[in-house]
Amino acid sequence: MNSSSSRRAALKAGLAGALAVPAVASAQQNFSWKMTSAYGKGSPFYMDGPGSATDLAKRIEVMSGGRLKIQVFGAGELIPALEGFDAVRAGTVEMNHANSYFWTGKTFAAQYFTAVPFGLNFQGINGWLYDGGGQQLWNEVYAPFGMVAMPCGNTGVQMTGWFKKEIKTVADLRGLKMRIPGLAGRVYAALGVDVRLLPGGEIFPALERGVIDAAEFVGPFQDRKLGLHKAAKYYYTTGWHESATVSELLINKAAWDKLPADLKAVVENASAACNVISEGWCQRNNADAMEDLIKNQGVIARPLPDDVLKRLREVTNQVLAEAVAKDPMTKKVHDSYMAYKRKFDAWSTYSEGPYHEKILTA
Ligand code: CA
Repeated sequence: MNSSSSRRAALKAGLAGALAVPAVASAQQNFSWKMTSAYGKGSPFYMDGPGSATDLAKRIEVMSGGRLKIQVFGAGELIPALEGFDAVRAGTVEMNHANSYFWTGKTFAAQYFTAVPFGLNFQGINGWLYDGGGQQLWNEVYAPFGMVAMPCGNTGVQMTGWFKKEIKTVADLRGLKMRIPGLAGRVYAALGVDVRLLPGGEIFPALERGVIDAAEFVGPFQDRKLGLHKAAKYYYTTGWHESATVSELLINKAAWDKLPADLKAVVENASAACNVISEGWCQRNNADAMEDLIKNQGVIARPLPDDVLKRLREVTNQVLAEAVAKDPMTKKVHDSYMAYKRKFDAWSTYSEGPYHEKILTA
């Protein structure tokens, strides 16, 4: 072979190599998935806006070059609000966007991946999930159901909620009809609260008509959007019950296992981005809404009295102890969460704690 023919051969090989690239790309499988949500179409934070379910789907599509397309359905569009767990488990849809504490009836340990009363803040929960073994435990909890999950959003600290009357002592809670879901509802119930479960859209009319005396939803921005300040004036602040509420991306494991490694990385990284971006969105919007509620809407905002918080904490510990005693998986997750929290809280007394208590007020 002379030099010019070897050049031609090399050129031919190079050309064949170049032509092989699109051939490989076209052999790559494209995926078209469905994602349902526990929240209605257009719901701020959950379905609409930076870091929401629709934003997550868009990011995944763009980052994957269109190879993973996800069609997003609000609550009621494809399935009812709280049937995402069963739909993903059955493979009817590949993904659901909600909060894991909706599934505590299926597996109580799911509570820890959303929020535990008197639990970790946004920094702490991310530390536990990403670096403290929380993510692995989340998948372990869902393994018997054939699903995996990851954090994909966070509201930051929620608010204790709206009360028609001032709460001065623990006794003021007795007989109060309150909308509050989940574990916190069980804690209130133990203190004599008549707990009612209402979807977001039904809270305002119930509170206005006096069907309920108190309600919690999310935080200033979302609560104001529901009009809750028009039905109750006492806004008890910093939520003891949801210190940093995690949004969950729930995925069918068989579908997940079919994704190539790069698309798995796209989903994981888009979800981590939405986790941070959604929380940032909440901070700004809640700050604006809180200012308006206090300045312009006559809302009285304050934390719950110390003795009420103390009692809520005692009952929370009792309720968690009962749950741990009943279920080994709950115990495993609880022990991991609490061990992490002990370390995080101790470190916080040198870091974030004094920053808020001393440095900001210096
Ligand atoms: Ca809430």
